[in-house]
Amino acid sequence: MNEPITVPQANPGAGYRALQPEIDAAVARALQSGWYVLGQEGRAFEADFASWLGTGAAIGCGNGTDALALALRAFDIGPGATVATVSHTAVATVAAIEMVGATPLLLDIEPRLFTLDPAELDAVLTHPPAGLPPIRAVIVVHLYGQAADLDAILPIARRHGVIVIEDCAQAHGAALHGRRLGTLGDVATFSFYPTKNLGALGDGGAVATNDPVRASRVAALRQYGWRTHYVSDEPGINSRLDELQAAILRVRLGHLDAQNARRRTIAAAYDMALAGTAIAPPSRRDGAEHVFHLYVIRVTERDAVQAQLRAAGVGSGIHYPVPVHLQPAYRQRVALGPAACSVTATAAREVLSLPMFPELEDRQVDQVCAALRRL
Ligand SMILES: *Cc1c(COP(=O)(O)O)cnc(C)c1O
Repeated sequence: MNEPITVPQANPGAGYRALQPEIDAAVARALQSGWYVLGQEGRAFEADFASWLGTGAAIGCGNGTDALALALRAFDIGPGATVATVSHTAVATVAAIEMVGATPLLLDIEPRLFTLDPAELDAVLTHPPAGLPPIRAVIVVHLYGQAADLDAILPIARRHGVIVIEDCAQAHGAALHGRRLGTLGDVATFSFYPTKNLGALGDGGAVATNDPVRASRVAALRQYGWRTHYVSDEPGINSRLDELQAAILRVRLGHLDAQNARRRTIAAAYDMALAGTAIAPPSRRDGAEHVFHLYVIRVTERDAVQAQLRAAGVGSGIHYPVPVHLQPAYRQRVALGPAACSVTATAAREVLSLPMFPELEDRQVDQVCAALRRL
């Protein structure tokens, strides 16, 4: 008999309860305002988020997938363009590319760090694959809370005149050489899905950029292409951040840096517990500040390890079990880089995410550590 899971891998309800009085007050304020979509709360959150991030402007939208699509549209990337990204990501990254009518090209990752392999990007930009439209942009995913190798990627992209979009859906507050992710490329996107480091209690997303012209284009595109009410300058979509979510996000943004620090403390405890085992702790990139959206280990006997953890009441997750290029909707159809995503396919068989959220209690962390020491 297994014990019940007493330490889940994620727990968005605990995130709400930890800040319940503040969140409830913010929700009541938004409800009482009588204005529910694109109002004062949304504008205040956009200003707070842009200044916390250190960028010129942030534009709220419906979710992280739309944020990517809006960022692509703001740079006129659509039909007739290829967008390079990774296969080891949330399917949303690739879905957004097809939403705007562009062609995805999926590249392999670095084996220890799980992010885009710069050599693959260099290879496809130097020798573009036959039969694909020109590569106009790369979406760099800062996976699990850690920076991709922007030191290598940015100069390669610049040399080839390719737009760099940072997908920061898992990296709110992470940094590289002391600069926050989401301020280093041409444009950045965020998701506020409830389990993300900065989570709403529903869907939400944002586009961030230092370029005021692109920012105002995104602001128009998210609402039918309006610059003036009821007059579309260009065809847009409806993807707005509502006032309730914006009010909740304002509260949670105020706690984000402390919560990321708590995630790092938990990660350090897991690192110590793994030290006596054959399992390596997650690799850290030099110069990068990890925010541990997920704490991911690699194990070859994954089912057995998961069962052992479960027997100790410890939940775990797999992010992601099937790489995008092997999923039914995409396989045999999407273009791949020179390595045919072979590192990605191996990683997908081995990755395992341990419990990670800031509300984990010390005794729960101890319970996970005890289970890890027995692996
Ligand atoms: C969550 C996530 C998204 C999509 O965000 P949604 O808000 O769910 O649309 C995109 N990219 C990555 C890497 C994600 O983790």
